[in-house]
Amino acid sequence: MMYHRPALHAEETPENRGEILLRLVRYLRPYWKSVLASVFFILISAGAQAAGPLLIGQAVDQFIAANDPAGLGRTALLLAGVYTVGMFAMRFQIYWMSWSGQQVLADLRMQVMRQIHRLSLQNLEGEEAGDLMSRLVNDIEMINAFLSQGLVQTLGSLFALVGIVIAMLALNLPLALVTMAIIPVMILATGFFSRLARRAFRRTRETIGDVSAELEEELSGVKTAQAFNRSDFNIRRFEERNAANRDANVTANAVTSAFSPAMDLLSTLDTAAVAGFGGYLAVQGQVSVGVVVAFLQYVQNFFRPIQTVTQIWTSAQSAFAAAERVFELLDQEPAVKDLPRAADLPTVRGEVVFEDVSFGYEDGQPVLQGITLKAQPGETIALVGPTGAGKSTLVSLLLRLYDVESGRILVDGYDIRQMTQHSLRSQMGVVTQDPFLFSGTVMENIRYGRLDAGDEAVYAAARAANAHDFIERLPGGYQTQVGERGGMLSQGQRQLITIARALLADPRILILDEATASVDTRTEALIQRALERLLEGRTSFVIAHRLSTVKHADQVLVLDGGRIVQRGTHEELLSSGGLYADLYRRLQFDPAQTVQPEPAAADAP
Ligand code: ADP
Repeated sequence: MMYHRPALHAEETPENRGEILLRLVRYLRPYWKSVLASVFFILISAGAQAAGPLLIGQAVDQFIAANDPAGLGRTALLLAGVYTVGMFAMRFQIYWMSWSGQQVLADLRMQVMRQIHRLSLQNLEGEEAGDLMSRLVNDIEMINAFLSQGLVQTLGSLFALVGIVIAMLALNLPLALVTMAIIPVMILATGFFSRLARRAFRRTRETIGDVSAELEEELSGVKTAQAFNRSDFNIRRFEERNAANRDANVTANAVTSAFSPAMDLLSTLDTAAVAGFGGYLAVQGQVSVGVVVAFLQYVQNFFRPIQTVTQIWTSAQSAFAAAERVFELLDQEPAVKDLPRAADLPTVRGEVVFEDVSFGYEDGQPVLQGITLKAQPGETIALVGPTGAGKSTLVSLLLRLYDVESGRILVDGYDIRQMTQHSLRSQMGVVTQDPFLFSGTVMENIRYGRLDAGDEAVYAAARAANAHDFIERLPGGYQTQVGERGGMLSQGQRQLITIARALLADPRILILDEATASVDTRTEALIQRALERLLEGRTSFVIAHRLSTVKHADQVLVLDGGRIVQRGTHEELLSSGGLYADLYRRLQFDPAQTVQPEPAAADAP
């Protein structure tokens, strides 16, 4: 059952860099018209850049040498016209290419979002949430920079370069060859710098991933850290990661900032070579002075595109690495997939059968073995047992967050692996220990259970969940905004809202992970009654912490080490002794009245 996740920071190799670029470019396909428009304007501006020096050379030879001010004036006007057209063309090329880039980015973000929802828990839970966040935010931003600026500048520069090279070759072959002799040197120097830069940037990406992961952890764990007096320790650890990121960035800046001066030096050398050799040829009478003047212009214009391309190349490295990691996420296959001919589960009565089910998260480490059980429609099944016994795993299998390794799980006689996940989960409700509220209003959070429910239905559900009264007393009533984790609402209130949400959804099968969190006795009583209402008439699997739940359950299953070691009703189990009787005895002395000997979450208020 081992799932192999691809390495997070895969090395980008020259071969797959081409693939990545191709794949990015393929995203442009739907927007080919605007790409084409951009290329059209690129050609115009490249032409303008090649034509400028040609006109200047002509002016020197034909009009200045021949003392023809009228001709000179005409050329000057023409030159101004050419450069103006070039400038406008540049503006349009950038606009159309950035526009296409933004479309691609929006598509990419949408795909990432869909993929996260498509992937099963199994794919995602291994990644630290902070790292995943940083990956998505930073990586997409890097791709953004490349698509909206890098790509258009690269294309523009390459076309400009081609235009210039053609013009130089046509003007004078020997002089063109001398000018271009510098190219191999430039390529070598660029290769050297980009290798250094790639290494430096990879380091900055890794370290920023660490920093975000740490920040995310600090934010969610600050209470725990304070409770355990670990703040200093955590701050020191953060200091180290932060310093590593700072140093990596400084190194990366050192590498990139050395690049421009090196290119300037080469450009100066080349200008000198052109002036010297061109001057010699002019003195020999082999070229005109105008041609030498044009060449001096070309050398300048010729370095700019190369420099742009090489600089972009270094940032393109980051974009490729970023794109690679985004694609890696997009390419992950969900661990739980619908079969090609999966059928929709019809509306069920709620009979649940486990037939000799075994499962492990990793090969050779079974977590559940030989689980066999049968729940009649409407029955409440209480799951008890020590921490790590496999209770949560058992309900995850029923929800089909994972597929069983062997055996079968049947709902109303249908093997859940043959059914679509959507049709299965739409008939199941989950209420967990850690009530999760989405950002939005209380109303929206309850309606999340059934999106087409009217306001009246929402109020009814809230009343049934004993939530209506406190919601009415909130400053904004049902329209009160709640934060990601429920903001100003208490743990108990959030729990009541999630119960209301589940009541509204009205699922046939309910999975309930009873809260151990400390709530005041009044709220506890409200939750208790709300839960009883929720369980009524549904097949329920309860990871039970309350004595009353266990007492009222139709069956109590005692799990230990991944097996069902005892089963029966509360009374039957008590009289037969064993693990259950032990758990119960401990409960007699436990003022918190909990059947699971688990410590309460450390960060619970
Ligand atoms: P319980 O709910 O009874 O406390 P769980 O079902 O959470 O038990 O865990 C059963 C066993 O499976 C434990 O040994 C736990 O460490 C392991 N386990 C739980 N979740 C995962 C996971 N996502 N990956 C690997 N092992 C897991």
